[in-house]
Amino acid sequence: MKNKLLSLNTYRGLLHLFFPKLCLACEQETPLKNNVLCLDCQQELYYTDHITKDDNEFKRMFYGRLKIEKGAALFYYRKQTTIQKLIHQFNYSGIKSIGKIWGNEFAQLMIENGWKESINVVIPVPMHWRKERKRGYNQASVFAAGIAEILACMFYPDGLIKTEPNESQTKKSRAERVENVRHVFQLNDQYDLAGKHILLVDDVLTTGATLEACARTLPSSCKISMVTLAIGRL
Ligand SMILES: [Zn+2]
Repeated sequence: MKNKLLSLNTYRGLLHLFFPKLCLACEQETPLKNNVLCLDCQQELYYTDHITKDDNEFKRMFYGRLKIEKGAALFYYRKQTTIQKLIHQFNYSGIKSIGKIWGNEFAQLMIENGWKESINVVIPVPMHWRKERKRGYNQASVFAAGIAEILACMFYPDGLIKTEPNESQTKKSRAERVENVRHVFQLNDQYDLAGKHILLVDDVLTTGATLEACARTLPSSCKISMVTLAIGRL
C-alpha cells in the first residue's frame, strides 16, 4: 500500500512538471493552454525579429569571421526580467519542458519564414559529459530536440563532442576565446556530415566564440546556420 501511494505521488509530481498548475515565471497565475506561462508573463518576453530578416544582428556577429547561411535568436536576454528567470530555471532547476516548447515554437517560425527546405541536420552545442551528468541534461540539446521534432530533419545530439571542460573565458579577447574553446570540440565520426546543411543550436549567444568554434570543427563542405534561444549583451 505504501509503495502504491509513493508511486502515485511520483506520478502526480511528473504530471505537475509537464503541465504546471501555476505559471513557471510568476507562480501566481494559471498558464495559457499548451504553455507553461500565464498571459502576463508571456507578454513580457522580448522576441527578436531575426527570423524574418536575412540581414540581422545575429548574422552580423559573425561577419568577417565565418560564413553562415542563416542565424537567429528567439529572445533578447535581459537581466532582471522574466526571460532571465526562465532561462535560469531551464538551466539549473531541471525544468526541461520549457526548452522543448520554445524549440517547437521557434521551428514553427522557421517553417513560416522559409528556413526549412535546405536544413538537413540539427546539432546542439555539446556539454562536457561530466557537467551533463551532474546537471541531468544539456539545455541546448533539449531546445535543439524541440526544433528538430517540428522541422522533421535529422537530429544528432552527439554530432559534436566536448572533450574537455572549458577554462574560464572572462578576461579574454574574442580571438582568444575562440582559440580557447577551439580545441575542446571534436566531430563524432560516426556521422557523415560532408556536404550537409547543419543547424547549430545553443542556449544563449554572447560573443559567438563557442558557436564559431563548433562551426570550425564541422567539415568544410558543410553549410552552416545557427540559432540560439536568446541573444545577450556582455
Ligand atoms: Zn506568470
